[in-house]
Amino acid sequence: MSCEIILQIFSGGFLSEPVSYQAVERKLDSVLDRLPVRTVIMGWARDKALYEKTAQYLAKRNVEFYFWFPVFSETGSVRSQSGLEDFLLRRQKAGGENGSHTEEDFSFCCPNDPQNIENILDLFQREFSSIPFTGVFLDKIRFPSFAQGSGQGLQSGFGSVFSCFCPNCLELYKKENFDNEELKDSLFRPSTAPLGIKKYRGNGVYDFEDPRIAKFFSIKAAFIYNRLELLSNYFRGKGYGIGFDVFAPFLSAFVGQDLKVLSGLCDFMKPMMYRATNAPAGLPFETEMLLRETVGNDIGKRNAFYKVMDLDGEKKPFDLDFAAKELKKLAAVSACPVYAGMEINRKKNLAEVYPDYIEETITAYAPTGVRGFALSWNLLDAPEENIAKVIDVIS
Ligand SMILES: [Zn+2]
Repeated sequence: MSCEIILQIFSGGFLSEPVSYQAVERKLDSVLDRLPVRTVIMGWARDKALYEKTAQYLAKRNVEFYFWFPVFSETGSVRSQSGLEDFLLRRQKAGGENGSHTEEDFSFCCPNDPQNIENILDLFQREFSSIPFTGVFLDKIRFPSFAQGSGQGLQSGFGSVFSCFCPNCLELYKKENFDNEELKDSLFRPSTAPLGIKKYRGNGVYDFEDPRIAKFFSIKAAFIYNRLELLSNYFRGKGYGIGFDVFAPFLSAFVGQDLKVLSGLCDFMKPMMYRATNAPAGLPFETEMLLRETVGNDIGKRNAFYKVMDLDGEKKPFDLDFAAKELKKLAAVSACPVYAGMEINRKKNLAEVYPDYIEETITAYAPTGVRGFALSWNLLDAPEENIAKVIDVIS
């Protein structure tokens, strides 16, 4: 099987204790000779020495080194960022995941506030620009999902998705002849399926009973595209390669990511096709939150969703055929190479990843037109038996 491998290493959050260089070197030593690794992505603890030593090590091995940079989330923990307002003009609470992900706070800032963008670039410039990274891997390049604030009670994810209507954004919506009142009106209409979804065409394209919902999502996707165009130009101008961390296509529409057009802004894209992850970005988790936040426990409407999606909602881990189909459609339209994001780490109750999962996932994803795999989300937490299985399956 010919495929390229990207490795992802979580070095710690902006405010947490970074991992040790020795731990990183030891792990890379055990992997680099056995896998066709093109890139190592690492972030985002603030420890220059850690990255400098890793950069030196990887340069000798002829492996690219990308900085894993969360953009519209996390940066608020070290720079004062303006937050989001939902369609009822309520300020969204800062994230606060349910304890499991304490190193990530998942609170999002408003991408349309120019001051936020300035702060994000300033943070990079001050803390990371002196390190010889080959590229930047931009994560959290989206609005929050239905999983936002999942520990904070019902409907906080709903409000997060139907944002941002801060005064700045409201002006932008009005230019498109749209506003939050119109959205409110369509969201309170009764429907037979979540959000009145009638059809799913692949690549995040949905038909809704009320076209105003489609209009909202398309304006939102244009916001993200515009911001990322600006950020891509910035990083490209400084000579960095660019990778994008994105949601699975069917979830991308709800967070403002139009993967087809975004693929024209980066050198590679990594859709997070995590079938075993019960945490944000994980397919089972995000799907459950979408349903919980839109239709609650209404079995009829849940089943209507599965039917429209041609998705087996009972399957555990998440429906493999569906996930492979998603990748195939994405690879067919993407302007850049696509690397399937697959978990390799194991975390109790959060990501129960074992060799059999790795084998069936690689076997199903490999023939979809992807360039390779991004082994996520943390190589340092990957048991040797998982790594050995990857090597075994791709060689
Ligand atoms: Zn806003």
